[in-house]
Amino acid sequence: MSIKRFAVIGHPIGHTMSPFIHKRLFELAGISAEYGVLDIAPEALKSDYNSVLKELDGYNITIPHKQSIIPLIDEIDSKAKLYGSVNTVLNRDGKAKGFTTDPDGFLKALEYARIPLSGRVVILGCGGAARTMAYEAALAGAKLEFAVREQSVEKAEKLAREIKTAVKTDDIKCVDVKNLSGDIKTLINATPVGMSPNTEYQPVTDSQLEKCENVFDAIYNPLETRLISKAKANGSRAEGGMSMLVWQAVVSHRHWDGSTYDVKDIEKLCADAYEELKKR
Ligand code: NAP
Repeated sequence: MSIKRFAVIGHPIGHTMSPFIHKRLFELAGISAEYGVLDIAPEALKSDYNSVLKELDGYNITIPHKQSIIPLIDEIDSKAKLYGSVNTVLNRDGKAKGFTTDPDGFLKALEYARIPLSGRVVILGCGGAARTMAYEAALAGAKLEFAVREQSVEKAEKLAREIKTAVKTDDIKCVDVKNLSGDIKTLINATPVGMSPNTEYQPVTDSQLEKCENVFDAIYNPLETRLISKAKANGSRAEGGMSMLVWQAVVSHRHWDGSTYDVKDIEKLCADAYEELKKR
């Protein structure tokens, strides 16, 4: 059987964890494949698309190509269309099809942590990760709220208006995080607050955190942020972002070859990926 060829493309792309994670996923699925790293500058994307990318069986896409790849490929699935973003391409029978696996990776991470996306869901931040998480929360019918620092309230309101129109809901609020109060079903951190090396910080106060039944932190370095440690100590259900990073990669394999995985193997991969991250 011939070796399949995959890669991740981006610019710059020096520290990507993708080869480590995807090589393990191919191994676990018993698929003989190589997975490379291609640094492609924005101005080279079109020519490299025809000369290099079309020759691969599939590839992942990271910043800055997640939008600019769309006009080059032949089709995109409905979620990629909704988000206007593609991070996975499958080349099959001469056609390139694009997907976005970030939303499903997020949903899978929550599912395996048994964290619900229903009731009052508060998202901290309104950047790229928050946008994906907020769309999914709105689609799942949650009572969604953005809690952001004072200078970001206007930006959060703009995002809330976009999601309200796209998902046809009125149930989205925006507050200054300082004014966040009351019981929260699920709190999601989509800010870098608490990320290595600034691990002594947390994005909400202890008393705000005590009101949260479930907590998800998108940060994956460290594996357990101060927010997650404290939430666990409070008796809340809590999960860090490494599971999301790994599950969105798992979803790429579902699109490429239909592979499915044992949850125990994915848990082990999350732990190993963190050890690999620490080495870098
Ligand atoms: P981003 O687009 O830059 O958005 C960051 C958000 O956090 C913005 O709303 C920003 O507010 C806010 N923020 C930044 N510093 C803050 C502070 N000191 N206090 C309060 N809010 C602050 O970044 P992103 O791509 O969404 O990533 C956010 C986090 O998620 C990062 O830690 C990233 O590593 C993680 N992430 C994890 C995964 C995963 O698979 N686990 C995937 C993507 C991202 P302003 O708009 O005011 O700057």
